[in-house]
Amino acid sequence: MELLKVENLTKHYGKKESLIFATDNVSFNVNQGEFVAIVGQSGSGKSTLLNLLSGLDKPDSGRVYINGEDIYKLKDDELIKYRRKNIGFVYQFYNLIPVLTIKENIILPSLLENKKYDEEYFNNLIKILNLKERINHLPNEVSGGQQQRASIGRALINKPKILFADEPTGNLDSKSKRNVIDLLKQYNQQYNQTIIMVTHDMTLAKKADRIIVFEDGKIKEDKLAGK
Ligand code: ADP
Ligand code: MG
Repeated sequence: MELLKVENLTKHYGKKESLIFATDNVSFNVNQGEFVAIVGQSGSGKSTLLNLLSGLDKPDSGRVYINGEDIYKLKDDELIKYRRKNIGFVYQFYNLIPVLTIKENIILPSLLENKKYDEEYFNNLIKILNLKERINHLPNEVSGGQQQRASIGRALINKPKILFADEPTGNLDSKSKRNVIDLLKQYNQQYNQTIIMVTHDMTLAKKADRIIVFEDGKIKEDKLAGK
């Protein structure tokens, strides 16, 4: 089943000599349950693309449908709610709130939704994230890898239709890198979670089902990840 449909996405920055097409007429589809890695050199437009796909930013032209919903048609306040409910986003630098504990950071999106978080789901989540012993610590009391795993927990607490991650391992040592990728993979398989992850590490990209190679704002290659 098709979950994400991207049609002719174009976004430029600057003008005249400095005009640059960060995404240039990009189209592709992603099925429910797919784990997609987007790779490409720095400046190729990966972050711009992810921001457009997740509704953080709007294109000059083109459309994004998530589960049939044309996300740019939503009004600003509707989009905020839609994102909170349906979209998870993981950043390179975690962006945890320093005065909240790991647990409070993870459940924050469900508090914002005014709903009680699902206790059983939370417990299973922190088991997968391997954060059980750390939930009452503050972010600066745990390692970078643990902070990133907490930010993944925060992105997953509302059971989003789709999870985006922009260089989620970019700031981690190699052991934590593998750890984070393995848990994304495990979560993808266990919950059939759709994931779109940007990375410039080919070794990590190979853990995905599919690799999209991005160059100068365009898809250069779209292939199955050879296992
Ligand atoms: P990547 O994530 O692959 O490194 P980006 O999407 O960040 O690429 O950037 C793509 C291109 O768009 C780059 O040339 C970058 O300099 C440019 N760009 C990105 N954001 C802005 C911005 N806010 N203003 C001007 N240029 C930008
Ligand atoms: Mg980037």
